Amino acid sequence: MQTRFTPEQLKDPDTASSEAVIRKCVHCGFCTATCPTYVLFGDELDGPRGRIYLMKEMLEREAQPTAEVVLHIDRCLSCLSCVTTCPSGVNYAHLVDHARAYIEDRYRRPWREGLLRGLLAWVLPHPGRFRLALALARAARPVRRLFGSGPLGAMLSLAPGRAPPRPAVERQGPAAPKGRVALLQGCAEPVLRPEIREATVRLLHRAGYEVVFAAGEACCGSLEHHMGRKAAGLAAARRNVDAWTAEIEGRGLDAIVITASGCGVTIKDYGFMLRDDPAYARKADRVSALAKDVCELLAGVALPPMAAPTPVVVAYHPACSLQHGQKLGDVPARLLRDAGFEVRTPVDAHLCCGSAGTYNILQPGIARQLGERKVQALEELAPDVIATGNIGCAVQIGLGAAAPVAHVAELLDWASGGPEPAAMRRQAAGSTGRGGRRSTM
Ligand code: SF4
Ligand code: SF4
Repeated sequence: MQTRFTPEQLKDPDTASSEAVIRKCVHCGFCTATCPTYVLFGDELDGPRGRIYLMKEMLEREAQPTAEVVLHIDRCLSCLSCVTTCPSGVNYAHLVDHARAYIEDRYRRPWREGLLRGLLAWVLPHPGRFRLALALARAARPVRRLFGSGPLGAMLSLAPGRAPPRPAVERQGPAAPKGRVALLQGCAEPVLRPEIREATVRLLHRAGYEVVFAAGEACCGSLEHHMGRKAAGLAAARRNVDAWTAEIEGRGLDAIVITASGCGVTIKDYGFMLRDDPAYARKADRVSALAKDVCELLAGVALPPMAAPTPVVVAYHPACSLQHGQKLGDVPARLLRDAGFEVRTPVDAHLCCGSAGTYNILQPGIARQLGERKVQALEELAPDVIATGNIGCAVQIGLGAAAPVAHVAELLDWASGGPEPAAMRRQAAGSTGRGGRRSTM
């Protein structure tokens, strides 16, 4: 795409980066057919090519964002399916992140929307606040129908029907470890599904790794980053870079292991996000280079003996952040097959389930449609369990699925001697927690 940015505009590093992205786009439109929102709406402006055009016009003219532009950018899931499809190597992620920050700085949202976004950014990255919010949501569940199908109703539906247990992580590692890894603690996952971290630690111990939690590390910043809150996203990135750098320069790290693939995409991008900060650029690059999804790490090491305890059919849902963001789509499925599970994948595996960070709260109607399509496709595979590698997908799919939803690490832990995944145990015990639907949380 031709651009007309002035030399003065291109002195801004974000504008220079976006110009380079836009110029790579050759208008071919291959990306539109694989874009979930284009599939739903059939509108060019709800596909990647149309959005690139809108962003180019807005950034080039330094225009005040219009409600129409904001609508189409807000509807983008940042699923990055378009990046996988694009033959020209267009880095849509960096462009849309820049556009979101531009909109956040210049666009005045209706007060309710602004309040909701502010509330999400204040609550979700902080486990203590998030735990309290979930307790309030549970108390409000009996009257949740009064909140309708908008963002508040969506928030109440997404909250688990039971109080999640507190994490109980085994600290005793192997006597003679072959390596030392830091496991991301993050924010939402340990509150919603602490059993994922417990299973991952057991699995890594069995694979011969000492597992540490870096002091001072917390939310990776992606929730705020993808809402256009650039300063908050960068502050989270710097805090985590400091925490992991202390470990790297102390006793050393072989990897930074991540179990939530959405966080993995952002941490692998810290080097880019902090490229213009002389105090952090080099350290952030080093952290990004060490970041690995748990399945990515396990695929490259000698694993403990694995054997699925019973014949189990697994419907594998590759999270967008894993398949499009990290290009690791088939790695977890391969690990599960090697462990003895029968793995099936849906025909529309490339399409987003509608979770996408805070998307299922901010765009509940679209998220619901995508979630229902995804659940139907997964359940057609007649699974005993649905597996995924991202907490957001697990919650979104768990809303409608009859089968339990487990993290890939929980299944691998089970196959190598750990307990059956908690969601499967709960279902076997016949627990219910979602007003008639079976609880997967
Ligand atoms: S990131 Fe996903 S929703 Fe956004 S334009 Fe690309 S394919 Fe469409
Ligand atoms: S596939 Fe790539 S080059 Fe083609 S229109 Fe989409 S973003 Fe542009």
